[in-house]
Amino acid sequence: MRVYLDNNATTMVDPEAFELMKPFFCEKYGNPNSLHKFGSETHPALRTALDQLYAGINAKDSDDIVVTSCATESNNWVVKGVYFDKIATGEKKRIITSAVEHPAIAATCQFLKKFGVELTILDVNSEGVVTAQQLRDVMSDDVALVSVMVANNETGMIFPTKELAAIAHEYGALFHSDGVQAVGKIPINVQDLGVDFLSFSAHKFHGPKGVGGLYIKDSQPLSSLLHGGEHMGGRRSGTLDVAGIVGMGKALELANKYMSFEGSHVRRLRDKLEDALLSIPDVSVVGKREHRVPNTILASIKGVEGEAMLWDLNRAGIAASTGSACASETLESNPIMEAIGADKELAHTALRLSLSRFNTEAEIDYAIEHIKKAITRLRAISSTFAYAPVGHVSGL
Ligand SMILES: *Cc1c(COP(=O)(O)O)cnc(C)c1O
Repeated sequence: MRVYLDNNATTMVDPEAFELMKPFFCEKYGNPNSLHKFGSETHPALRTALDQLYAGINAKDSDDIVVTSCATESNNWVVKGVYFDKIATGEKKRIITSAVEHPAIAATCQFLKKFGVELTILDVNSEGVVTAQQLRDVMSDDVALVSVMVANNETGMIFPTKELAAIAHEYGALFHSDGVQAVGKIPINVQDLGVDFLSFSAHKFHGPKGVGGLYIKDSQPLSSLLHGGEHMGGRRSGTLDVAGIVGMGKALELANKYMSFEGSHVRRLRDKLEDALLSIPDVSVVGKREHRVPNTILASIKGVEGEAMLWDLNRAGIAASTGSACASETLESNPIMEAIGADKELAHTALRLSLSRFNTEAEIDYAIEHIKKAITRLRAISSTFAYAPVGHVSGL
């Protein structure tokens, strides 16, 4: 059996979305910006996709959506764009973010310190979120941007986005949220949340890889990251990935359509898996279930090196993660676990299981059986070999 429980890293493309993408490779392959028929015959599908995208996050209209190549680009764009507009100009000085942001935010902010940005990184509580009060305590009028994610990629914990955005605005700062792990999983209403910017990525909600987007409230000014042609109203140059955009629009529409089903089906399977894990001694899970997106579990399994666990599961055909995919080739401890305050030893035992609507009950039963087997086997070894990496193969 092959069981995919790494949906926070990437997801399967929904076959219905894939079907819609197909004509744009070998038949309707024109450049949408060209004046001839080959170009213009892509327009109806692009229009539909942009409408699906703005409706999918409850934006005001499609002018507020700019398509990018991925959420990494969207995140870089916001942080660097606000730096160009507000900090390089001397108007403001600071950026505030959280200790558990995706590297696409964290590393971009660190990079800008070289250019004089004053960076404040908010600690998280034991559930892995920042509170409104914490943000209020560090706000001042010289803050250009607050960037705090909607839901965390490793824990699935949901942040108090609406309150955080309101506090940022009280001090005249812009508010961005990395919405990648929330869009398509929980209802997102950007107008109600009050965010100025929200990043999303198609491949995290059963769309194709290599296409993402940025919501920009009221199409307000934001210096471009990619200059060149007049694509996307001059905001983001580069020939449009028509197939990708069509797939992303449909995937978001489908994710929202299936959301209540996911909310019950995925949640039930996740809870079953989580209950099974918690019935094993010395296993804990980060964050209360009701505070998380329905598909995610970040467990720590005492005495079981995360990488060794992945290897055992991989042999049984089960895909999981020790946390951020970006860190999985190094034997580092899970940075989110450390931010939450877990000791180093426990942070090495992180196991992230992330489900999707395509998982079945039989798959979860199979996973439970093999996780239990692996824990038994690895705990038996760990008393002999302490926490040496067991069976780690680099470059996986
Ligand atoms: C996956 C992920 C990203 C990066 O998305 P890409 O489209 O792969 O660049 C950013 N933020 C979070 C929270 C993610 O989970």
